[in-house]
Amino acid sequence: VIILAIETSCDETSASVVADGAVIKSNIISSQVDVHRKFGGVVPEVASRKHLELINIVIRESLDAAGIGFGDLSAVAVTYGPGLVGALLVGVAAAKAIAFGLDIPLLGVNHIEGHVFANFLTETNPQFPLICLVVSGGHTDLVLIKDFGDYQLLGATRDDAAGEAFDKVARVLGLGYPGGPLIDNLATEGNDRAITLPRAYLEEGSLDFSFSGLKTAVINYLHRLKQKGEPVNAADVAASFRRAVVDVLVDKSLLAARQYETDTIMLAGGVAANRLLRDELARRAAEERLRVIYPPPVLCTDNAAMIACAAHYKYLRGDFAPLTLNAIPNLQLGLDRY
Ligand code: ATP
Ligand code: MG
Ligand code: FE
Repeated sequence: VIILAIETSCDETSASVVADGAVIKSNIISSQVDVHRKFGGVVPEVASRKHLELINIVIRESLDAAGIGFGDLSAVAVTYGPGLVGALLVGVAAAKAIAFGLDIPLLGVNHIEGHVFANFLTETNPQFPLICLVVSGGHTDLVLIKDFGDYQLLGATRDDAAGEAFDKVARVLGLGYPGGPLIDNLATEGNDRAITLPRAYLEEGSLDFSFSGLKTAVINYLHRLKQKGEPVNAADVAASFRRAVVDVLVDKSLLAARQYETDTIMLAGGVAANRLLRDELARRAAEERLRVIYPPPVLCTDNAAMIACAAHYKYLRGDFAPLTLNAIPNLQLGLDRY
């Protein structure tokens, strides 16, 4: 089974060819960060226009890099939500045109489901049930994965997503955009106990998250220093902030694994590339004899290979989308709408 997948939900135009849900033949990712950097964040209308310019080139490049032609495809897959509606529509229109023109099946994939499946590209025989912590620019979810395509949402952020908090704190520190990798790098040079920051655990046993209080605490701390005319040690702020986020993410992931008696915890989404999160979760899970799985960093952030992997299992189930498939900006995990 050879699937071409297309991902345009945010600011990466990506196309990938994956064989049998496991062999990445190509994974072309054209990032628009340089275009959006001067605005300090993704500008939706600009993202749509860029996707339109790039989509055919990126698809062509993914086929060429895989050494195949359109005629070799078993199916075409596309992210149809959640994401920016104009951005999603570019990918959805391209995929529908290919499915119609070649008369091959169309597969619609949830972007967050795609992030989860970045793990299954290499972990082809996972032991269900397992816990997945999805930490990205727009989501912070703890999900119980009972099988391919069978999910139960256990907890989610009540305000900011983890990636969003990284990006906002990076901005107030004047580090630039996107902030997650910049804070991650700077933090390695700082003292993570230099500044006392709050950790929101919420009610006893809760698997929900909250990061807006932490973000505000960092802003207030910087404001106080400025009023006193004292210098900011940005590395210490980055290290203390990263530690506060990771402590809560790791504690709640372990709590979920205990509550639902799973042996494995997976990480997914852009923040899963964070080095402290990967290392701390692996270290603390080992103490409880739990297994930890995470994708290589390039497959943590947005890419089409993860979409192709999720699509592969839909293909095996015959879970095809009609050619009337539409973009759904607020699509929920496990609740396909086509
Ligand atoms: P969503 O997947 O929820 O729709 P998105 O697609 O914009 O949102 P991703 O591409 O999964 O999000 O991840 C991007 C986010 O990951 C950004 O917020 C970025 O700052 C963060 N990120 C990337 N690398 C790291 C890192 N090393 N440490 C912390 N955060 C990181
Ligand atoms: Mg992005
Ligand atoms: Fe994403």
